[in-house]
Amino acid sequence: MKKEMIKSKELSASVRSGNFEEVVQGYTEEAALKEASRCIQCKNPACISGCPVGIDIKKFIYQLGQKDYKSAYFTIREKNDFPSICGRVCPAEYQCRKACVFTKKDSPFASEQAINIHFLERFIGDYGMKNNLEIPVKKDAGLSKHKVAVVGSGPAGLACAGELARAGIKVMIFESLHKTGGVLRYGIPPFRMPRDILDFEINYLKNLGVEFIPNFIVGRVKTLQDLFSDGYSCIFLGLGAGVPSFLGIEGENLCNVYSANEFLTRVNLMSAYKFPEFHTPVNIGKSVIVIGGGNTAMDAARAALRLQKISGITPDTKILYRRTEVEMPARRLEIEHAKEEGIDFNFLIQPTGFKGDQDGFVKKIACLKCELGEPDSSGRRRPVPIKGSDFEIECDLAIIAIGLKANQILTSVTPEIKTDKYSDVIVDPGTMETSIKGVFAGGDIVGGEGTVIEAMGMAKKAARAIIEHLSKN
Ligand SMILES: Cc1cc2nc3c(=O)[nH]c(=O)nc-3n(C[C@H](O)[C@H](O)[C@H](O)COP(=O)(O)OP(=O)(O)OC[C@H]3O[C@@H](n4cnc5c(N)ncnc54)[C@H](O)[C@@H]3O)c2cc1C
Ligand code: SF4
Repeated sequence: MKKEMIKSKELSASVRSGNFEEVVQGYTEEAALKEASRCIQCKNPACISGCPVGIDIKKFIYQLGQKDYKSAYFTIREKNDFPSICGRVCPAEYQCRKACVFTKKDSPFASEQAINIHFLERFIGDYGMKNNLEIPVKKDAGLSKHKVAVVGSGPAGLACAGELARAGIKVMIFESLHKTGGVLRYGIPPFRMPRDILDFEINYLKNLGVEFIPNFIVGRVKTLQDLFSDGYSCIFLGLGAGVPSFLGIEGENLCNVYSANEFLTRVNLMSAYKFPEFHTPVNIGKSVIVIGGGNTAMDAARAALRLQKISGITPDTKILYRRTEVEMPARRLEIEHAKEEGIDFNFLIQPTGFKGDQDGFVKKIACLKCELGEPDSSGRRRPVPIKGSDFEIECDLAIIAIGLKANQILTSVTPEIKTDKYSDVIVDPGTMETSIKGVFAGGDIVGGEGTVIEAMGMAKKAARAIIEHLSKN
């Protein structure tokens, strides 16, 4: 008999939409064992090919099923440093779960019946954290004389630092913000990524001897050449894609039109949701419009709706998206959660301008209706605006969440680093080395906006190349 898929516990929509508590509560031991028992241990496990870092999924699920949680943890850690983080944010429905044998062929994302690999990974990751399971540090293999500078403390920088520190190399992470974690801290809200999980992983690195210097912009305070002169043998760049894209339409600079980056940074990094405990509030309107269909749009909309509730405003947050729900790049779970919480989704709509009042505050968004045309370079059907379909939507706060671009603070003052037409850093795909010898890069600064696990995968590859490079010197 076919076993039913086991759902994870969640806070109810009515409770969670009024606070920033973690929504998904994760599996109990009993639930994890039941879900693991659905895995049929395929002879050719397709799920592994769907994982960007190639975790031996079949093996760890088997070990979990045997209640050998410790071995399952180390199986995951062979490829992934932060299972508790990835188990919470990986878009598994486009990756391992989509490749699972239980997903129907030609489905755009995982079928509901696909094994919940991410929830199992989270269960094991949390077990490892609770039981302080640690990967052994290599005894001095002659590398402790070297120190490496890591620029950026997002998932790429953290993963690279961990790999290097375990090989006995001294690592210094330079971070431009006052807090570490990159998007995991300033972008993804605590209701998806609890800060104690992130702090645990960062403390683990500190215990390994990794040092952090916050409020330090490499490219402004010091150049890469300065870092080499300071004695760093190699440098890893995990600069991310922190620059928001804009629509380029009239009225975009009106008051209360935010980029999602600014809005989420104010909420997450500056703790606006804890005002007045923190003296850094954010404006929140009575009718909020979020433009976009990715994870950033979902996070911005769900954070806005929570702030409305916390401020005693009747929640009214809408999403406008140019295509339809199927083409939305956001994690399916976030879309479902957003709907349950009361976000109003509006598809096939393209904004054409913002209109303000005499004081310069946004009041309306002018829009056109769209229909789907032929697929574009992303493979998704292109939205085609319908002539004469103009209409307006009232709003007093708008958040633009249509994509992110490379952070060029460092590359703009370092012309020796070759970049492509998107200003992303070009690397040797085998080693992740840039056009400057001894300077490596990974994460969103290479190849553009991606995922946490992809950023970590690139960083680990770079770390292995750095270790090899230093072993020869
Ligand atoms: C709102 C939002 C939600 C997302 N949700 C998901 C999700 O659910 N699942 C998923 O897999 N991915 C998600 N992503 C994408 C994911 O977060 C990124 O792919 C990932 O964070 C990239 O990691 P990174 O280390 O390359 O860059 P980042 O996380 O951007 O970190 C880069 C760091 O470098 C610092 N920095 C930049 N330049 C300098 C400099 N010159 N000197 C010093 N420091 C510098 C920045 O301040 C930043 O802290 C989301 C992204 C956003 C914005
Ligand atoms: S493809 Fe699915 S069922 Fe097969 S081993 Fe992987 S997780 Fe288990």
